[in-house]
Amino acid sequence: MNPLLASWSTPFGMPPFDLIKPVHFEEAFAKAIEEHDLQVQGIAEQADEPSFKNTLVAFENAGQLLKRISLTFNNLNASCSSEDFRAIEKTWAPVLACHHAHIFLNAPLFARIDSLNSKISTLGLDVEDQKLLRRHHTDFVRAGARLNTSDRKTFANNSTRLAQLFTQFSQNVLRDESQFQMELTEESELAGLPDFVLSAARSAAIERGLKDPRVHVITLARASVTPFMIFSTRRDLRQKLWHAWCHRGEQPGEHDNRPLIKEILKLRLQQAQLLGFKHFADFALSDTMAATPEAVRQLLMRAWQPAKEKAKQERLALAQAATESTGQLHKAEDIQAWDWHHWSEKVRKATHDLDEAEIKPYLQLDSLIQAMFDVAGRLFGVRFQPRSDLAAYHARVTCWEVTDDQGHEIGLFLSDNFARSNKRSGAWMSNYREQTGSPLPTRPIVVNNNNFSSAPPDQPTLLSLDDAKTLFHEFGHGLHSLLSQCKYARLAGIHVLKDFVEFPSQIFENWLLQPEIMNRYARHFVSNQAMPATLMKKILSTQTFNQGFSTVEYVACALLDLSLHEQTNFEMLDLDQFEREGLSMIGMPGGIGMRHRLPHFSHLFSSNYYASAYYVYLWADVLVADGFEAFLEKGDPFDSQLSAALKKHVYEAGASVDPMEAFIAFRGREPTIETMLRKRGL
Ligand SMILES: [Zn+2]
Repeated sequence: MNPLLASWSTPFGMPPFDLIKPVHFEEAFAKAIEEHDLQVQGIAEQADEPSFKNTLVAFENAGQLLKRISLTFNNLNASCSSEDFRAIEKTWAPVLACHHAHIFLNAPLFARIDSLNSKISTLGLDVEDQKLLRRHHTDFVRAGARLNTSDRKTFANNSTRLAQLFTQFSQNVLRDESQFQMELTEESELAGLPDFVLSAARSAAIERGLKDPRVHVITLARASVTPFMIFSTRRDLRQKLWHAWCHRGEQPGEHDNRPLIKEILKLRLQQAQLLGFKHFADFALSDTMAATPEAVRQLLMRAWQPAKEKAKQERLALAQAATESTGQLHKAEDIQAWDWHHWSEKVRKATHDLDEAEIKPYLQLDSLIQAMFDVAGRLFGVRFQPRSDLAAYHARVTCWEVTDDQGHEIGLFLSDNFARSNKRSGAWMSNYREQTGSPLPTRPIVVNNNNFSSAPPDQPTLLSLDDAKTLFHEFGHGLHSLLSQCKYARLAGIHVLKDFVEFPSQIFENWLLQPEIMNRYARHFVSNQAMPATLMKKILSTQTFNQGFSTVEYVACALLDLSLHEQTNFEMLDLDQFEREGLSMIGMPGGIGMRHRLPHFSHLFSSNYYASAYYVYLWADVLVADGFEAFLEKGDPFDSQLSAALKKHVYEAGASVDPMEAFIAFRGREPTIETMLRKRGL
């Protein structure tokens, strides 16, 4: 029996990973699509008058098998990919996109939903049921349900083709990332690298089958690139690595992402215009809190102007540091993108007497995992028990049973923290199973993926402060899904508007640096001593350090994303030129690269989700800065009244309420932008 089609009697209904092989997916997808089609047909063509139950609830409950298989496939393909998985993805991503496109274009089904939506206030529905009806109705309209027959066909074909292009784009990035490795074989090439960078580089070499103990490998995982950029005193190697990092996705030939991007942009524009929008940005933003490109640009520019000025001052300070350190005159223009991390670390050390290598011994991964569980327990009353008896899809993934303080089941949490060559880059949270109340109450299975550099087997893995924030960030997303208490999966957990989805994750980062958490969990890996108060104080005093750089490298990407998707003609588009001219138009300060250049900007081109929406992190940061301020005003980061409100209105509510109403219910008023700017020192 194909394990993907069998019922799963595993603990928590976890996928039976040991039985699932790539070969099972083909048959499973085919059967599950067929089953879903029949269910949808049954709903659309039933003789009974449309009701909320026989149409919306039935539609919500249809396709359970397909969802289970898709979630399993997508997760395994991201965390543990292989040639087999990539081949399946190539074949099935367009088939699945086509399947979903045709459901949205099912005329009798839409007619039922449309008729219910037109008399929504007479149906006697509660707020959440009304939300579900409105949400599905909007999903259908945005997927072309109101178009005429020939436009529908174009729309569906475009969706199918887009799925193909997204897959190809991601596979090209993954290919460029996994193929590159900078092998360091000479002693002189290791100059400046502290022990933890060396041991991570040695682990990467072992993972890639390089047995010679003198060989170290720097990969294109961000956790490998950034420390090398900070510590290496070999400017030539930093430049070489920077070059490889920047040119992912634009190797000329069959794996070049630039032609794919052009086609994606054309198809998106055509779809947006079929739906009556001027361009894709208008379309994408009409289903967000921000609502319009103007509102997005206004926010981005509020941060951009002061960030540019701050970055210029920062570059000058870096040049001074370089001059003092080398004895050779450095002007601001001499500080290039591959120098920035290196010299900013030196400036941080000089001005705040703080360096990364001093912090790191206190940030043990295992201890910080306990810290985030403790924070979740104190804020939201949840408990995490290790389940070493459960085996996930990889030996290094750990499983945790999550319960509330009365011992009721909340869900299962999988933690997959280490970089592997067959793993997608970056950090993300996703579900193997989503929370829902329908058709049966179901608790979620959540996975957090990170790409931390693993220490050798006999040593604890140590994180940078940025890594530790990422750990907390993804766990914030995880809690959004774990704590969800919604009636329907479509509205549950992370299925909120995209400029709200980063609020629960980003606000959670704030608890990492609370003194009572650091005192308890940031302990030296050798002496077990708590982090000295002076070091803690220095960390807190550097929170606005280098924020000109960080804001610039991010906002530049968000502005380019927005203006790219506001274009209405891509025939003549030259992507390199667009990027160059776009950056020059916004006055990009020198010495800083884009955080993601367009040819490997997976947020924009591996799906539609973040297209024209890379701004969402800054939008959320406005909510976060102002939201966390509420705890500071109370003088207690664990204030029970506030944390209860945050849990109820944000983490539990999903999309069952309007996001601004949810924020106001927690905070007592709308957010202001100023707190975010102040927090960044802008
Ligand atoms: Zn996030």
